[in-house]
Amino acid sequence: MTDKISREITSTARGIVRLNEPLAKHTTFGIGGPADIFFEPADPEDLATVISRATELGINWWVLGDGANVLVSDKGVRGIVIKLGRNFAKIKIDGNVVTAGASAKLDKLVTQTARIGLSGLECAAGIPGTVGGGIVMNAGTYHGCIGSRVESVKVIRSDGSTAELSQNEIGFRYRWSIFQSSISDIIMQAVFRLTPADPDELMKKVEEIRARRSRNLPSCGRSAGCVFKNPDETTSAGKMIEIAGMKGARIGDAVVAEEHANFILNIGNASAYDVKTLAEKVRRAVKDKFGVELEYEIRLVGEW
Ligand SMILES: Cc1cc2nc3c(=O)[nH]c(=O)nc-3n(C[C@H](O)[C@H](O)[C@H](O)COP(=O)(O)OP(=O)(O)OC[C@H]3O[C@@H](n4cnc5c(N)ncnc54)[C@H](O)[C@@H]3O)c2cc1C
Repeated sequence: MTDKISREITSTARGIVRLNEPLAKHTTFGIGGPADIFFEPADPEDLATVISRATELGINWWVLGDGANVLVSDKGVRGIVIKLGRNFAKIKIDGNVVTAGASAKLDKLVTQTARIGLSGLECAAGIPGTVGGGIVMNAGTYHGCIGSRVESVKVIRSDGSTAELSQNEIGFRYRWSIFQSSISDIIMQAVFRLTPADPDELMKKVEEIRARRSRNLPSCGRSAGCVFKNPDETTSAGKMIEIAGMKGARIGDAVVAEEHANFILNIGNASAYDVKTLAEKVRRAVKDKFGVELEYEIRLVGEW
């Protein structure tokens, strides 16, 4: 990116702009090269102005949530990386309708709604990340996925205009939403319709789910959760990886977790290249053993 374009974006923005920001600081893997421009908008108007200007200039952008489901390449991301901050994190509760800003923490939303007796988001208890990232990924567990409780999502489009998408338009499927296709919409907030229930029972369930997660998930090393999607509802990718003999496989500081074979851990200074090479090795082993091509759940981002 030229200095002229960087200056243009910097002078257009009211929020925080950093050049060559290392994305390793912003991902749960602790991995990722620099973003040409790292932008934290001051408010929705600031975001709309910068996005429409970037569109006019032909600059790419990409939105980062809490970086809990991404592997950012060692070369980093060209163009603008947008990180929504505190001004996009408000949670408003009106009866059983909950409006949450895209940068609100998903797990915090789970606690807040369960505590006042609103059921529907317990399935996301303990899942790291933001509401925006959770919507894009249709985050969940075998208890369910958050998409089933989404009524609508408000977005900013590439020309700076806003739009509202209904649950039907978003087309949630297992770990998928329309936001994973080529759509460049930026999620600003989501509306959830929940169901009244006993708050004590809900909190008990939430705590049980969290406790089970901390028993079953790797306790050390940095990760981005499950690397691959389950091939179908009854087949666990983790089990296949285990049977294919890949538990404990290692490249550099990237290791297939012993506790959960669908997790790759950065146990020190793994590079994105190490993780990706190991993931490809795992895929080949599963293909050889079962004839099944595993699909990535984590999003591979940046220049490879
Ligand atoms: C230890 C661990 C355990 C995990 N367990 C689970 C689990 O049980 N179930 C599960 O589903 N996931 C799990 N994950 C994965 C991760 O927590 C979820 O996918 C989460 O929803 C990602 O949210 P995020 O804010 O970090 O999104 P990111 O990882 O930052 O982004 C994910 C995608 O969403 C896009 N995005 C983010 N915000 C926006 C926005 N505002 N507008 C448009 N696009 C946006 C990004 O561009 C990217 O494509 C786990 C991760 C870890 C590290």
